[in-house]
Amino acid sequence: MSATRRVACGPTAKRSRPLRLVRTPGVVAAMLGLAAVLLAGCAVGPTPTAAPGQKTIVVTYSVLGALVKDLVGDEADVVVLMPNGADPHEFQPSARDVETVMRADLLVENGLGLEAGMATVLEQAEAAGVRRFVVTDHVSIRTVGEGEGADPSDPDQAAGAKDPHVWMDPLTMRQALDALGPVLAELGIDLDTRLAELGARLEALDVELRTTLAAVPEKNRALVTGHESLGYFADRYGFTVLGSIVPGLSSEAEPSAGDLAALIREIRATGVPAIFVELGTSPSVAEVVAADAGVRVVELSTHVLPPDGSYFTFMRDLATLVATNLGTAA
Ligand SMILES: [Zn+2]
Repeated sequence: MSATRRVACGPTAKRSRPLRLVRTPGVVAAMLGLAAVLLAGCAVGPTPTAAPGQKTIVVTYSVLGALVKDLVGDEADVVVLMPNGADPHEFQPSARDVETVMRADLLVENGLGLEAGMATVLEQAEAAGVRRFVVTDHVSIRTVGEGEGADPSDPDQAAGAKDPHVWMDPLTMRQALDALGPVLAELGIDLDTRLAELGARLEALDVELRTTLAAVPEKNRALVTGHESLGYFADRYGFTVLGSIVPGLSSEAEPSAGDLAALIREIRATGVPAIFVELGTSPSVAEVVAADAGVRVVELSTHVLPPDGSYFTFMRDLATLVATNLGTAA
């Protein structure tokens, strides 16, 4: 069906939810004033502070932040802006977040509209001289294929729309870290052997995930998720994205009855035993789809780190859940 493969995460949110901060001239003036104060070197407020001489790297999103922390170690202060568990597609920065961004020595962000609610703040920080590293500028990007989007007149769903969910593939993240390494080195952050070691760990993780997922037979290698978040994972590990419950971005979009009926037909025709819900998926809609299609609903963490805060655990847990629920033993 056509309602399945759209990637509307960031850009849709950007259009439908302009940043609240920019609607109030007084707030903008205050923010720019704050930037001026901060650039003058005056510390304001209780934002996290690095040890003397240490740089502060501000990462927008928790999953990305986990890898940056692994890379940097104790050589810099890594501050993750969005609380783990917040939906990055929906996040709006607070005044304190703005302050944190303005004080960064380096901003690391996903890009492709994932941080739509922060776009203005990030741009203003750059204008004020804060360096930005956008992950999706440095990796191979997956795009929506011809005929995949439900509404080809929507630029977010037309063929060629760019998928921001790059963290769902460890080798794509390795590309990102390889590009980030020289930027950190320019800031005087000593990576020693950590970049090579982390790259090797990500390659080993890829092999491990592939082994875990070998339990899934060819006929079950079809993913239905809450919104279209597993495209990179599917491409890397030999799955197809059969469809998503919410057309477009998580909680932003509403599936039509026709969309859901078509998805249910496709699930039945494929015979997959389970569908996956995630942050932002309506449980009631998922239950209706699952009941009608005769499959079970499994909760998958695609945007939230596990309690140990590790990207590696995050990906292992995800692959294990997919393998357990679509595998031969399922
Ligand atoms: Zn998403």
